[in-house]
Amino acid sequence: MVSIRAVDVTKRFGQVVALDHVNLEIRQGEFFTLLGPSGCGKTTFLRTIAGFELVDEGRIYFDEEDVTYVPPHKRDTGMVFQNYALWPHMTVYDNIAYGLRVRKLPRDEIDRRVKWALKLVHMEGFERRRPHQLSGGQQQRVALARALVIHPRVLLLDEPLSNLDAKLRIEMRSEIRRLQRELGITTIYVTHDQEEALAISDRIAVMSGGRVMQVGPPEEIYLRPANRFVADFIGRGTFLEGRVLETDHELVVELESGLGTVRGVPSRSDRRISVGERVLVAIRPESFTVAGSEGYNAFDVVVRNISFVGSVKRVEAEAGEKLFIIDIPVEYDVSIGGSLRVYVKPSRTIVIPLE
Ligand code: ATP
Repeated sequence: MVSIRAVDVTKRFGQVVALDHVNLEIRQGEFFTLLGPSGCGKTTFLRTIAGFELVDEGRIYFDEEDVTYVPPHKRDTGMVFQNYALWPHMTVYDNIAYGLRVRKLPRDEIDRRVKWALKLVHMEGFERRRPHQLSGGQQQRVALARALVIHPRVLLLDEPLSNLDAKLRIEMRSEIRRLQRELGITTIYVTHDQEEALAISDRIAVMSGGRVMQVGPPEEIYLRPANRFVADFIGRGTFLEGRVLETDHELVVELESGLGTVRGVPSRSDRRISVGERVLVAIRPESFTVAGSEGYNAFDVVVRNISFVGSVKRVEAEAGEKLFIIDIPVEYDVSIGGSLRVYVKPSRTIVIPLE
């Protein structure tokens, strides 16, 4: 088990800055996810950790060892790709054994390890099949076994589930998490799917334009986004703008569009918010309630749309020409065009600095 440290890592491709002074520390045995839109630099970061890309600036450490210029085959990382990248002409057994043969391990040791890896991913009995005789999920299990069989110090997963259907993705992600916990292996996982990231990770780094926007556990990223980008990228929400009137134990914000004042708490930002500053107020759909009292923030909204999303009714509503997204209990009666009074606790009203 190793920890990984990227210090001021910058990587350019011509004019494109794929990684812009990235500083990240991934703890021993941690399941760490890089999350962000297409092109934000997730894959490039993973490839610099594996050693497939050399950084232009900065350093990479595995524990105390500086691996910045160590070639990939000496870094001991196991990588799994989106398209599995299995060799089509080789059997499952040979695909998994390949990395061990390259390392010139004795035959019985190879056999022992391949059997161990097949058992780990529940694929015993498939040794003689070729990749085209397997389902997508089975191919991904083989790809995982192939990465794990070399006993890597770090497991790197680049959107490993994106070719699978929705149900299988959910099954496979618990499977990956189980394996990772069982082996205690430090893992970096890349995805652009925020729900997947929230479900699987110990901590998440949200990236945009080659930069790290926020690092934290899933709850913190979701409930206390550090800036507008993170708030918007992770989940739905109501976003209001205003100016800070008071900063005591909570913040008091005078909202624009005649929505009155609200009390809230600061987001996980590095910067303190001061009186007079313009801010964004973010509220998650499930933070609203239809019952409240003193001490809550109240809004009178007009219902514009209602959709039933299984566990709740999701209401799109309007007040002061702002869009509100509100989850309410299924049994609660609302109608389009009707008015509704909703409440939010100050602790769920997140105040974000507007850079
Ligand atoms: P995706 O989710 O689409 O895979 P990503 O977040 O993994 O995106 P990267 O693949 O790391 O993003 O790409 C970051 C930026 O660097 C993009 O603008 C991309 O076009 C550019 N880039 C990546 N690899 C190369 C390369 N080999 N040559 C030139 N530009 C590249």
